[in-house]
Amino acid sequence: MTPATTSDFLAAERLRSERENQSAAGRPAASLAAMARDERGASNRGASQHGVTPQSEDFSAWYNELVFKAELVDRGPVRGTMVIRPYGYRLWELLQSDLDRRIKETGHVNAYFPLLIPESYMKREAEHIEGFAPELAVVTHAGGKDLDEPLIIRPSSETIIGEVMSRWISSHRDLPMLLNQWANVVRWELRPRMLLRTTEFLWQEGHTAHANADEAMTETMLALEFYRALAVDTAVMPVIAGEKTPGERFAGAERTFTIEAMMRDGRALQAGTSHFMGTNFARAFNIQYTAQNDEVTLCHTTSWGMSSRMIGGVIMTHGDDTGLVLPPNLAPFQVVIVPIGRGEQEAAVLAAADELAGRLRRKDVRVHVDDRTHLSPGFKFNDWELRGVPIRLELGPRDLEAGTVLMARRLNYYPQASGGDRPAKEPLSLDSAVARLSFELAAFQEMVLRRATDFRDERLVRTDTWADFVAAVAVGWALALHCGDQACEDEIKAETTATARCIPLDGEPESGPCVRCGRPSAYGQRVVFGRSY
Ligand SMILES: [Zn+2]
Repeated sequence: MTPATTSDFLAAERLRSERENQSAAGRPAASLAAMARDERGASNRGASQHGVTPQSEDFSAWYNELVFKAELVDRGPVRGTMVIRPYGYRLWELLQSDLDRRIKETGHVNAYFPLLIPESYMKREAEHIEGFAPELAVVTHAGGKDLDEPLIIRPSSETIIGEVMSRWISSHRDLPMLLNQWANVVRWELRPRMLLRTTEFLWQEGHTAHANADEAMTETMLALEFYRALAVDTAVMPVIAGEKTPGERFAGAERTFTIEAMMRDGRALQAGTSHFMGTNFARAFNIQYTAQNDEVTLCHTTSWGMSSRMIGGVIMTHGDDTGLVLPPNLAPFQVVIVPIGRGEQEAAVLAAADELAGRLRRKDVRVHVDDRTHLSPGFKFNDWELRGVPIRLELGPRDLEAGTVLMARRLNYYPQASGGDRPAKEPLSLDSAVARLSFELAAFQEMVLRRATDFRDERLVRTDTWADFVAAVAVGWALALHCGDQACEDEIKAETTATARCIPLDGEPESGPCVRCGRPSAYGQRVVFGRSY
């Protein structure tokens, strides 16, 4: 079936997401109402294009509509695959260039490894294949005949890179080997969700080999710090960095570290992971070196990854009822100028808008002039609000006469402590607009971080009783003592759907009874629990 219009796509997506979420959210009525609104507005393209189900009403419907309406993604022909549209891909490029810079600055180099992996490679590390088996896509037939050995479409590249490393490393002089790959991977998804869980997604995977455990551990933490800094400085997600409990580790890893971000529905999103493999993969793939004393020694390896799901994290960390809210460091357009004027005035206003845009571009501001003549200013305002542009400038004939431009911020979150709300719209002098906008964009970035941090802190609760724990994970995260027993973790999950997200790196030493079973706590500190994506 070829859907005829955007609203067909949206209706189909909404129905599907409703079926998926009916039991969890239990609120199909709200989404049906939203669909009715859309259908009424279908004849007027403006109304149908800009309305999204309010986030507060149905978070899941809000997300599923927004990723399409903001033109971030489209659906691929194979269920669970996605097309990343130019606006969404620009977000990915901005994340990618930031992370790539951090990776290269610390001595890593990029390379590319094959998409197809012999099945025998995958089987060499027992836990690895066991962890990935249900998600693998396998090529059994090619070139018009059955293959002698099935080929796995990479779900991750530890095995193929491990095999190559064993050929490239022979002496202590070859270490450390610090590789990174930007690539796509395939993990078959039974319950796909755009940008969050898709069968194919984009990511980077770092793979390193070291002479000893200490150096590999230092590398594992360095990579985690890339992700923490990327999340906080660029994506403005106030993440908690920590270690996974044994049950949540990567398949084949000795230790897994993570950054966990809180979405606006209180759920956690794992936004990047870094794994210390010990000698597990080195043993499976003979990654070894001759030390200075001529002893042949196994390497210690690491791997670490950040994927396009980070975009989903940005959407759900900052978005509101109106649509996306993008932090300026990540916004494809930081400023959009909407020229307003008809007839004779049109050319003068447009020329002034272009002139201002030129001055902003010379200061490296990502600016766009919306000169679509067939659309009304009101439509354009709604469009850019939905698409999360931090600052909109409205420029009409009267503004031009006064030598000003009207600035509208996408968000106004200024708690009383910082002087309270500022006016929704403010005139700026055209002469000083460039300097003022640099300041405003920096202030916007800080405001978005403060808002996300306040939100997270309000919903991160220290809990010592089971009742408090259950209440906390219903709307956010619980910081609780835990016995470290997997069966106890499983029980918590069965009763609340919450899982251990991480053991925070900056947790204070503490011990006491397990919040669930009362046995003595493990880990020497509290653990973050929450429902997750
Ligand atoms: Zn317990």
